[in-house]
Amino acid sequence: MRYVSYSMLGSPRAGVLEGEMVRPFPAHIRSLRDYLTHDAREGLDTEAPVPLADIVLDAPLRPYKNVVCIGRNYLDHAEEVARANGQELRLPDVPTFFTKAPTAIVAPGATVHWRRDVSQAYDWEGELAVVVGKRCRDLSETEALSAVFGYTCLNDLTARDLQRSHQQWFKGKSLDGSCPIGPWIVSTDEIGDPQNLAIELRVDGETKQKSHTSRMIFSVARALAFLSRGMTLEPGDVLATGTPEGVGFARTPPETLHDGQTIEVEIERIGILRNTIEIR
Ligand code: MG
Repeated sequence: MRYVSYSMLGSPRAGVLEGEMVRPFPAHIRSLRDYLTHDAREGLDTEAPVPLADIVLDAPLRPYKNVVCIGRNYLDHAEEVARANGQELRLPDVPTFFTKAPTAIVAPGATVHWRRDVSQAYDWEGELAVVVGKRCRDLSETEALSAVFGYTCLNDLTARDLQRSHQQWFKGKSLDGSCPIGPWIVSTDEIGDPQNLAIELRVDGETKQKSHTSRMIFSVARALAFLSRGMTLEPGDVLATGTPEGVGFARTPPETLHDGQTIEVEIERIGILRNTIEIR
């Protein structure tokens, strides 16, 4: 199933996408966050379908909490970062977790509004995002995927100059607009093995990142086991699983995003997350 959050005639709603139609959940379910935290979500009926063309998609999820991310979780990306920074490659024993503020989240198709006086080095990072489906803690690696509700695309947009100058990454990762997510959440049964998905990012149609989730250092299951150890995860929590090689700052010569460019994150069996950048 494909789950969407959207607005119709100005009202926030959520529903299930079937082809070009959306079957809405009852009106009191105003978002997928409501749906995922609803006590009786399995028994919810849906209303008469509406055409996808008549609605405006919102970010499928806007969690209360920060989006949790993993830094350097693809071998080729870890190598390009070490090379760009003139450092020796040392792979982590545990995932490098950091977070993005929920206010950074923007909808699929939305324009990202940035300012030149805030950063001069906006960069892209296409990622597979995991949506937690139930309250859980201390997940073992073997049971971890049973706690997943579904998967979606995420662009971990980054102000590289702020990421570096502030030491902690939070500020450079959390500017408004820096977390496009969507276009929908695809349920686990349609994804199968999350380590078997092609992932690609394009800027104005030119491929910048092209990899496969099998190349993650910490699998989704292993990352969830690390994250949940002694720490409660809740329905609607989002984990971005890291980006493959091909980010702007590590390219030769280095690249940054420019006003008017369109970025697409495409993941097999999910779809395309597309956003246009405005820098003024
Ligand atoms: Mg990232």
